[in-house]
Amino acid sequence: MRPQILYPLFTDVGGLSGIGQKTARSIAKLAGPRLVDLLWHLPTGLVDRRTIAAVASIRQGDLVTLVVTVDGHQPGSGRRPYRVRCHDDSGGLDLVYFHGKTDWLMRTLPVGERRVVSGRADRFQEMVQMVHPDHIAPVEELEQVASVEPQYPLTAGLTPKTLRRTIEAALAAAPPLPEWIDAGLLKARGWPDWQTAIRQSHQPQAGMDLEATAPARARLAYDELLANQTALAVVRNAWRRRPGRPTSGDGRLTEPVRSALPFALTGAQSTALAEIRGDMASAFRMLRLLQGDVGSGKTVVALLAMLSAVETGAQAVLLAPTEILARQHFATITRLLEPVPVRVDILTGRDKGRGRAEILKRIAEGDTALAVGTHALLQEDVAFRDLAFAVIDEQHRFGVDQRLAISVKGTAVDILVMTATPIPRTLQLTAYGDMDVSRLMEKPPGRRPVDTRTVSLDRLDDVLAAVGRKLSEGAKIFWVCPLVDESEDLDLATARERHEVLGQHFGERVGLVHGRMKAGERDAAIAAFARDEGDLTGRRVDILVATTVIEVGVDVPAANVLIVEHAERFGLAQLHQLRGRIGRGTADSVCILLYQPPLGEVAKARLKTLRQTEDGFAIAEEDLRLRGAGEVLGTRQSGLPKLRLADLAQHADLIAAARDDALLALSRDPDLAQDRGKALRVLLYLFERDAAVRYLRSG
Ligand code: ADP
Ligand code: MG
Repeated sequence: MRPQILYPLFTDVGGLSGIGQKTARSIAKLAGPRLVDLLWHLPTGLVDRRTIAAVASIRQGDLVTLVVTVDGHQPGSGRRPYRVRCHDDSGGLDLVYFHGKTDWLMRTLPVGERRVVSGRADRFQEMVQMVHPDHIAPVEELEQVASVEPQYPLTAGLTPKTLRRTIEAALAAAPPLPEWIDAGLLKARGWPDWQTAIRQSHQPQAGMDLEATAPARARLAYDELLANQTALAVVRNAWRRRPGRPTSGDGRLTEPVRSALPFALTGAQSTALAEIRGDMASAFRMLRLLQGDVGSGKTVVALLAMLSAVETGAQAVLLAPTEILARQHFATITRLLEPVPVRVDILTGRDKGRGRAEILKRIAEGDTALAVGTHALLQEDVAFRDLAFAVIDEQHRFGVDQRLAISVKGTAVDILVMTATPIPRTLQLTAYGDMDVSRLMEKPPGRRPVDTRTVSLDRLDDVLAAVGRKLSEGAKIFWVCPLVDESEDLDLATARERHEVLGQHFGERVGLVHGRMKAGERDAAIAAFARDEGDLTGRRVDILVATTVIEVGVDVPAANVLIVEHAERFGLAQLHQLRGRIGRGTADSVCILLYQPPLGEVAKARLKTLRQTEDGFAIAEEDLRLRGAGEVLGTRQSGLPKLRLADLAQHADLIAAARDDALLALSRDPDLAQDRGKALRVLLYLFERDAAVRYLRSG
């Protein structure tokens, strides 16, 4: 239950007096529907109206506040604007309105009255005027007008004034809250209390108050990070507290499989495997992240770990985010398991009716030792006889919920999450802070570097000529286009168009795969490209035009050329993943990033990063620096909590501090029952990490 002290902040903006439905809707769209959302909507600029000027002293372009007396109105006509003549002791000034409404102007600026006006003034020789003043107010309101005004991001249908007024109402509703930050830290950093911090953040007095490092802003960012880290730590504690089950296999399956591999495990793979087995053998529940760049060999590690569980008579499951990936894992695993009698089944959304029922039966009865599949495995009617181990591939497409959903299908299920996204440390704490981590930093031997180049789309003809040459040398080429069937006004080369154009040059050797195809068609298209020989009709496919469906996992070792169209529209991590599709075989590999000129500075820097390095971590750090967190993990599907106040690049130092602080607080007070613990609970609710509170033992 949300603490009472927070109730006022979680009421709807529409409930404020003077806020109509339409305005409430605009605000909801801009910031969110509740007062608390407005508190988090921080100013991005300020206007200093404190200079109170005399007309005579005004220079061209000054932003000034003045007190003037209205002398007369001169309504506009045709192109001539409406003018309101005014003066102060030092001289005359015109207020100028284009399409001014006479009624309103007469009412607002009655002749003979004094008014405060504020805005930007123009001076042409002796003539001083102000076009569309920002403010006109009675003289009693001089002080309010002559102040520093915060500027906020806006949306259509919302005036700055309305938004400011609403935010002021939200600030007025913000109560003093118990302090959740460690007293020593608060003092050392010189941060204000929460209520002061939120007020100061909305009332900047100078440019430096707007910076991420300003004490008030830094405190709010820290609050958000601390809420996030506390929530993760609470969930982690709860996970650990549940009884685990020591699982140690006897090696009768893993040994034959391992020795049949055509390669030796790398040091990094062996270490990761040992860490995983250590967790499995312990009485705790495992929750571990296996992080490794594309092609670093995660699958083998995961498989050997799953086999250890199967050796004890239990079952294991591998969840993949897409149908394609699930099929690929299934194919790989089936092949690797040839030396041993272990039944693997695959279940995806494609399985229906009798076929599906039979698979479910085998899983339920334990005939299936190892199940591979998509979300379909999480459906309610999927039951295991004895599930002990789950591997979740590409976690950020799943969420914490799915992790829980799979864990309830077994007893004390150990969970291994695999991700190919090289996550910078700062992000890792934020997105995966509740997990232990094994990293595969070292790539399997024999990988050849990919020659990466950036080429302007203007030179498409040269690229086509180069493609022709490569084909005659036996190349296999991925050609990636950003979107299919996007609205015409976006100037995008769609995959279909490109397929046609390439077809004109290279005929039947061009295949097409995109996200709108049925899964079966898609598999067939990829299979045709993966085949070395022609099919029955003698047709061979050597260029595969694809949308980003090939991003994750598609494994065609012979592919050695990657062309990405409109590379500037992709995230760096995404491009890195795409590039991971080539350079797996023995031939030299080339990656051509086609861009639409002109490129902005950031876009240039990003593409340069890709040219210079193949180190996924370096690329991720750079991407984070250049573009921010959402992009690094892939915005839409990222499991990254939405951060509204903290900026992972700018507040990186605060993340580690928040993590340490959260762990310490929980080790002292695991159920957040003491004073600071109670304050931390308020913090969790304030940032809507309520779900975490459910894991605490006492209410
Ligand atoms: P990831 O899933 O991390 O992207 P994979 O597990 O798909 O990587 O491995 C990529 C390729 O490298 C596969 O073809 C796999 O057989 C191969 N591979 C894995 N481990 C090794 C190793 N130790 N030595 C050589 N090749 C390896
Ligand atoms: Mg893989």
